[in-house]
Amino acid sequence: MPKSKKPDIQDIVVVGGGLSGRIAALKLAQLGFSVSLVAPVSGHSDGRTTALWQKSISLLEDIGVWDELVEDSARLKKMRMIDDTDRLFRAPEVVFDSSELGLEEFGFNILNSKLNKKLQEKCDAEAGLTCVTDSAGSVTYSDDFVEVCPGSDKPVRARLAVAADGRQSLLRQAADIEVKSWSYPQVAVVLNVEHRLPHADISTEFHTQTGPFTLVPLPGRMCSIVCVETEEGANHLLSMPPAELARELERRAHSIVGTFEIVSDVQHFPLSGLNARSLIGQRLALIGETAHVFPPIGAQGLNLSLRDIDDLASTLQSARIRGSDIGGVAVLQSYEDRRRSDIASRTNAVDALNRSLLTSFLPAQIVRSAGMYMAGRIGPLRRLLMREGMAPRLGLRLP
Ligand SMILES: Cc1cc2nc3c(=O)[nH]c(=O)nc-3n(C[C@H](O)[C@H](O)[C@H](O)COP(=O)(O)OP(=O)(O)OC[C@H]3O[C@@H](n4cnc5c(N)ncnc54)[C@H](O)[C@@H]3O)c2cc1C
Repeated sequence: MPKSKKPDIQDIVVVGGGLSGRIAALKLAQLGFSVSLVAPVSGHSDGRTTALWQKSISLLEDIGVWDELVEDSARLKKMRMIDDTDRLFRAPEVVFDSSELGLEEFGFNILNSKLNKKLQEKCDAEAGLTCVTDSAGSVTYSDDFVEVCPGSDKPVRARLAVAADGRQSLLRQAADIEVKSWSYPQVAVVLNVEHRLPHADISTEFHTQTGPFTLVPLPGRMCSIVCVETEEGANHLLSMPPAELARELERRAHSIVGTFEIVSDVQHFPLSGLNARSLIGQRLALIGETAHVFPPIGAQGLNLSLRDIDDLASTLQSARIRGSDIGGVAVLQSYEDRRRSDIASRTNAVDALNRSLLTSFLPAQIVRSAGMYMAGRIGPLRRLLMREGMAPRLGLRLP
């Protein structure tokens, strides 16, 4: 279908074509806003996977990409947490089962490369969405509009800019929004393996003294592995030939799914955190890792970003119905108000869990072990944690 001519001032310009930016651009265009997406072509070489909870799957269904992705993804029916530290106080194993919530599964795990490719195709085909295949080179905010200048294309003017241009965001810096950023003495080593025994749709997180070691199901007899290590430990793993690395990872997994064969590149990500002091600026809203970054523990990062998108979309939709300026201060402030507590609670929970593994401080170890013990024994608490793990507020409805 031919795309309509770009109006002089669009409703929205989304900058950044990672998972957050493309999903936001599609959602907003499908709500009837005129949208430009300024993003360079994404590579499809990211071997990572993303575990997406039910609410995120609903958003992907809503924008029309999930039906064609479900076959390439693996169901996550159970989540198992195992204390694999050699500390004095060790917690018993805890299993969260989606059937306890009356769900068939908590969510699905999918390769980022597959999700990204589908999103890119959908963006290219979407009426009402103009794709400018370039990076933003500069941005200017003014009272009536924001102007984004791609390196080689003509400027895009819009009433609102949505910044999804990642942790080094040009749009955030140009708006002088300060960030709090920090790093952890850890690196995540990430790869995918084939294994001999079925994973039975169970995701397993071993809590070790260097951080979590996680096996997340992929279709068939495959899992993605996220192994959080010290910098030295990660370098050691990265220096190993594939067969030796496979044996070492199988040892760390206590052979629960049998022998491993590595079937992807081995990637690594130093762990860090970031929080933008504000989610909004003049005619600007931040989403995704432009606003918040934390370690890959408990599969929270993109799920949180998709809730940013949901809340932003419904805030803008209500503003339009009221006839309000979608880039105006009052509308943007209401987006910020809706998102603050979710972002703060996720960042703090992931940070606390990670630090409780690293610390040799006995009281912190006891609190973590007691928490896991109670989660294993007390049904209502376990169900509360399961719901809260998937999305906030759901957890407040105790059975
Ligand atoms: C090992 C690992 C495992 C993870 N597993 C999970 C999981 O299971 N579940 C989960 O929910 N989350 C997970 N996450 C987190 C998740 O991967 C991230 O939250 C998500 O990828 C961030 O996407 P984003 O689009 O917000 O940011 P990014 O992916 O950083 O995208 C930013 C985009 O902006 C572009 N850009 C930068 N500057 C410009 C510019 N000037 N103009 C235009 N474009 C620009 C970049 O090219 C990039 O494409 C994991 C993270 C890691 C590291």
